[in-house]
Order: sequence, then C-alpha cells, then structure tokens
Amino acid sequence: MKPLKVDVSDLNKSFGDNHVLKGIDFKVANNEVVVLIGPSGSGKSTLLRCLNRLEEPTSGKVVIDGNDISDKSTDIDKARQNIGMVFQHFNLFNNLTVGENIELAPTELGKDNKEEARALAKKLLQTVGLEDKYEAMPQSLSGGQKQRVAIARALAMKPDIMLFDEPTSALDPEMVGDVLAVMKDLAKDGMTMVVVTHEMGFAKEVADRVVFMADGKVMEEGSPDAIFDNPQNERTKSFLEKVI
Ligand code: ADP
Ligand code: MG
Repeated sequence: MKPLKVDVSDLNKSFGDNHVLKGIDFKVANNEVVVLIGPSGSGKSTLLRCLNRLEEPTSGKVVIDGNDISDKSTDIDKARQNIGMVFQHFNLFNNLTVGENIELAPTELGKDNKEEARALAKKLLQTVGLEDKYEAMPQSLSGGQKQRVAIARALAMKPDIMLFDEPTSALDPEMVGDVLAVMKDLAKDGMTMVVVTHEMGFAKEVADRVVFMADGKVMEEGSPDAIFDNPQNERTKSFLEKVI
C-alpha cells in the first residue's frame, strides 16, 4: 500500500493559553480530495498551516509523504516545495508581471531554467484560462483572475498536494465559478487536495471526503452524501442548517 499523503496524528496547537487544535487526527490518501468545513475560529486554517509548518505544532505528528515534518531535522524548505498553498488573499507580487510571478519560485529554487519556467508558466496560464495575461501586471486583473494566477503559481513548483484556504471567500460572486472550475479540473487530473471552503456545492460535487471541525476537533467525517444528507453529530447538523 502507498503511504498516506498526509498523516496527522494527535496534533495539538496552542497560541499562548488558547488551545486551538485539540488532538487532531487527519489523514489524506494519494489523489484524494478532502474538503474541510466548520465554523469560523474552529481551527481550519491553523490545521492547514501546520501541514507545511507555517505554524509549528505544540505536540503531535505531521507526516507528509512519509516525511515527518514536525521533526526538526527534516528539511522543511524541501518538503514545502511539494506542497502548494493558495490563500484567501492571493499575495501576488504586484511589481512583477503575471509570468514573472509564476516563474519566480521554480527559477530561484533551481527547479527549472528560465526557458523551462517560461514554457511551464504559459502552459499553466492556459490551464487556468488566462493565456493572454502572461505579460499583464497583477493590478490589471480582477480578483478571480488573480486567484487563478495564484493557483498557477503554486502549480509551477509541481507540487503533489495542494492546500486551499478559502480560495473564493474574498471574491465577488461572479468570479467564484471560474476559480472553482480550475480546482475541479485539478481534482479530476488526480491532484491530492485539501480545501477549506464554504462552497458546499463544490464539496458535494468534488470531495471524496468531507471533514467537519468545531472547537479544534474533528467532529465528524465521511462522504459528501453522508455528511450533507445524513449528518450524525449535532454540531454538524446545526452548522449545515446555517450554511446551506
Ligand atoms: P478558522 O480558520 O477555522 O476560522 P483559525 O485556525 O484561523 O480558525 O483560528 C482558530 C483560533 O486560533 C482562533 O481563536 C484564532 O484567533 C487563533 N489563532 C489563529 N492564528 C493565530 C495566531 N497566529 N496567533 C494567535 N492566535 C491565532
Ligand atoms: Mg480560516
């Protein structure tokens, strides 16, 4: 059997005396799409950020692709290269063109030479439906276009897992569909994905598994059908009544 892509066990994270993650077990198989839902403040972003050690766990184990990234001797920079992350706010470099944004990391880190990086950037822009924006500056793009560039930029490192933290929450409603469509295509191509989102339609259609978190714990998880049509936990039920 292949190792799990993500194997988190008994993860705890505190900020001062705020105990935010309380013994999280969270597994993701290769090629699996997991959608993480739950009320604001339940610890979803913190869990995601612990997966690439943007936050350091207080205790517990985070193993990605067999590498224990909570182990201080693990080369975290190397591990991070295989983990793409897309945030609510796209954080593009506004002084660089779209193409330069996408080519920056692969060339700086020696993954690709300039020509390879350029060819890949153009191909990825095609994938996200922005082939005509290679020379554009980020300021000239809509929010939805910026987010699709941010996805292309993350993909340029050829990650084998993509983490999305509310990628459509800051977008005007008419932009949401384009971004979700790109994510749907990625899932279809077999990318392993963890997606924090309030887009329940996306969860129903694309997720292999839905994980519901509240108060720093995984309260319930299962197939989209099980979670949306037949939730067992009272907290899941009341959350879903509010968001659907
Ligand atoms: P969610 O993404 O589910 O809304 P978060 O993981 O962002 O939840 O936050 C969970 C809790 O952790 C909140 O109480 C938040 O204030 C706290 N928290 C998150 N990040 C930090 C931080 N860097 N420093 C202090 N507290 C934080
Ligand atoms: Mg969050």
